[in-house]
Amino acid sequence: MKTAVIYARYSCDAQTEQSIEGQLRVCNEFAAQNGIIIVDKYIDRATTGTNDNRAAFQKMLADADNKPVWDIVLVYALDRFGRNSIEIALNKQRLSKNNIILISATQRTSVNIDGSKNLDGILLENVLIGLSEYYSVELSQKVRRGQRESRRKGNFLGGRPPYGYRVENKKILIHEERAEVVRLIFDLYVSGKCVREILEELNKRGILYNSKPIYQSTLFNILKLEKYTGVYRYDGEVYMDMYPQIVDTAVFQRVQRMMDKNKHGSSSRNTDFLLKGKLFCGRCGMKINGDSGTAKSGEMKFYYTCSNKKRFRGCSKTSLKKEALEKCVIDATLKLLNTPEKISRLADEVVKLNEQISKEQSILNLLISERAKIQKSLDNVMIAIEEGIITSTTKARMTELENSLAEINMKIAAEESKLDRTLKKEDVEKFIIEALASEPKAMIELLIDKIILYEDRIEIFYIYGNNTDPDEPNLEVHRDFFLSSQKIKITQRGFEATFELKL
Ligand SMILES: [Zn+2]
Repeated sequence: MKTAVIYARYSCDAQTEQSIEGQLRVCNEFAAQNGIIIVDKYIDRATTGTNDNRAAFQKMLADADNKPVWDIVLVYALDRFGRNSIEIALNKQRLSKNNIILISATQRTSVNIDGSKNLDGILLENVLIGLSEYYSVELSQKVRRGQRESRRKGNFLGGRPPYGYRVENKKILIHEERAEVVRLIFDLYVSGKCVREILEELNKRGILYNSKPIYQSTLFNILKLEKYTGVYRYDGEVYMDMYPQIVDTAVFQRVQRMMDKNKHGSSSRNTDFLLKGKLFCGRCGMKINGDSGTAKSGEMKFYYTCSNKKRFRGCSKTSLKKEALEKCVIDATLKLLNTPEKISRLADEVVKLNEQISKEQSILNLLISERAKIQKSLDNVMIAIEEGIITSTTKARMTELENSLAEINMKIAAEESKLDRTLKKEDVEKFIIEALASEPKAMIELLIDKIILYEDRIEIFYIYGNNTDPDEPNLEVHRDFFLSSQKIKITQRGFEATFELKL
């Protein structure tokens, strides 16, 4: 049986606000429906004016740090937990450190009562945090514009310049001694030396990188760095005046072609196996790990192989090609999530939740209540004037109040214009689609619990708990993975898709 405390707070916005009693009632009903025992309540009653220290909230957080008997904080709505999405996320994080979860009686949260994770909630939370970073500062755009200008002027923006360069007065200059090493590395590679031989040669000459011998991965990064040809690409723009050229463009391109051709030396250790830790063998149940081998042509090949097979030869499961399997899993997950309806609905929720949170932006609320007070004082002065009580002090007071009123109206307009700028649905949709497409690894990490590879099919288990909505994807998505037809077919309640797959 789960135990919870309720946290309730009354905010200034009386029009849409639930009373404390209303919040408690909704929370208690939710607890009763879900078999949660309420052991305590923390309540911040509306205090007059600007007092916003939320004593009960602070006490609740402090109690949470001291191994309390409760494991859930139940709120009417998530916005009780902070004045913006970042604050909410931070406070939530503090609870989760103590294994306490935050549940809203009226909104979906990323974690369900039983501790299982909720896909929409997780996405929503990530999108919100992402978006607030994306939108909160107009500044960031200005900064970006400024940075672009700086780059156009060839100015270095800070950080450590790549090996072979040095910085002086914001300009990037060639570090002659190191540039020689860079050229040597490119020349050795072009001459057909393999990575191991190049490293040996560098060692022999006593060449160090940050006072250590050069690692294989560093060597690859050097061989791949386009800046050495004087070309710098960033944010869709090409800057030609930032990095002086160290390596001949033709040599660089030749090296790229050679590396593509024989993926030389990139061992399985520094290859990114996206599905690492998620794969299990359908034949023997053991883990499936990343693996590599060298083909007759000398080309490096990457696979996923059953660990039982690899170590003890105890399993006959066929290895699968890394790229093909990863593509299959990513495509399937995208297909599942990346439908216009799903994204549209998710975007709606984000916009709605954000509006709710924005409404409670305390700055605006404070300003509005402040304005009401000034208006009231001004009305009183007007009455005094109408009643013929005009003194020099009344006049002075009136001017003062009128000035304050004008000032506060400007501040309110400024705050409100910020609200106007809040999320547009199409922007949110765009953001979600981009996030899904550009972060396959994060997506896999976030959404996939485990994948079981059978000889004839793949089963992908998504992290998705307590799902009763028939429109939502299943906890288990079953995929048939027919090697012979080189196609996978996905079937799932009302959802079908076929992918071409070459294995
Ligand atoms: Zn196996």
